[in-house]
Amino acid sequence: MRKIRCIIIAIGFMALSCWAIVSVAASGGDAMELHIVYVHDPLLPAISDNDLEMIIDEALVTYNTKFQAKSFSIVNEGRIDVQDFFNTYLDKESPQYRRSVSERIDIFGENNPNMYVKDVVRFFKANKWKPWDIQKFLKDYYTAEELAEMKTYPALAKATLPVYFEKVKKLTELRQPDGRPYLEQGKDYNSYMNWTLVMAAQDKYDVIICNTLIVYDVATQPWPHAALRFAKVGGSSFVSPRRPVFDGRTIMINLFEMLCSDEYFQSQYTAYNLTQMDWNRIIGSYIMAHEMGHMVYLIPDLYDIPRGCIMDSSEESMNYYTGWKNMQDNPDPCPQLQPWVAAREQVFKADALYRSGKYDDAVAVYKNAAKATPELLDENIYGAYMALLAYKQALCYKAKGDAAAASAKIKKAKYLLREYYTDVDDYYNEEFKTYVENLVNGL
Ligand SMILES: [Zn+2]
Repeated sequence: MRKIRCIIIAIGFMALSCWAIVSVAASGGDAMELHIVYVHDPLLPAISDNDLEMIIDEALVTYNTKFQAKSFSIVNEGRIDVQDFFNTYLDKESPQYRRSVSERIDIFGENNPNMYVKDVVRFFKANKWKPWDIQKFLKDYYTAEELAEMKTYPALAKATLPVYFEKVKKLTELRQPDGRPYLEQGKDYNSYMNWTLVMAAQDKYDVIICNTLIVYDVATQPWPHAALRFAKVGGSSFVSPRRPVFDGRTIMINLFEMLCSDEYFQSQYTAYNLTQMDWNRIIGSYIMAHEMGHMVYLIPDLYDIPRGCIMDSSEESMNYYTGWKNMQDNPDPCPQLQPWVAAREQVFKADALYRSGKYDDAVAVYKNAAKATPELLDENIYGAYMALLAYKQALCYKAKGDAAAASAKIKKAKYLLREYYTDVDDYYNEEFKTYVENLVNGL
């Protein structure tokens, strides 16, 4: 997680009054407040308040159907301009920004794919993908014989990177109906890497809905369904240490593919004659509810799971309509996701026990939750997450006056972070380390 000292300037809020407070039936526990804001790029088509409301309603219904858990109250935070949002939270003097420079690609310049092979191999390994999970996203670019040879992670990385860079280049060549490019030098909000920094710094929102084009400019972590599709971001979960609702996890839903009229994106949808209402359903169900699965339950994108599962990211064409249709045809909860859901629900239960002063019970449930948590978590955060659960137990011990036990748990949290940091020395993990250490120091 990232901790950024940010320059706070006034944000221009334009309050919306029409978003209703929406509640979804709870499976237990108190309703959590999700603060949602619409971040607008004025150079691109806008979306109406009614459509936004419909997207959110649709997401909550799908989420509740697929996970059968958790209830939310929606707090509408209105609209803000994307440039204002970035002026407020992107600190180019921060160490995090400086470090990100060496990790991000030059969207407009020449990049050397070979530079990233080692990192990509490490990324593929961490996600434990089988060759076919990646190969199928490459089948339009290589022959069957070539694909058959791609059995190792280095071979897959070397095949993935040139395709990815071509797709980034294509984005820079696209023009809006009036001739202006979609992407221009100096627009910080077109970079996904910048979004990760901004989301790490911001302290107001759990869910952001945005219409701008965001290039996936992190060559070291080429998620196949993003990097090998259009190399843009359709939605993402983020680390936002200052947002407490889901232990520092937040999400962004991107509307660009729905709103832009360019043939490059729209030709795949021509046959379906989609109306705005259809799109609202697709974005709500297929994008936003999926991102909520990342945020609430820490479930990663899954590439080896039956079609129609809300966390399935294996559809190589990854046409939103097809993915949404798969989900419509399989409306039941996904049993494969239960390990993540059950483990995370235990943490929510333990949090509630802590809040009600039942510290011993809370510790017991945190321990069970830690044991039950699958190792593969969203953004590969397992080590840091285990540290966080140890930290939560320390809080319980401290509250009941057992300083020795609290200090032992803190020691464990630090140890877990050290192990984690040594094993997987990447950007996200270092930020998580900082985040949890901040929590630890605050005890
Ligand atoms: Zn995802």
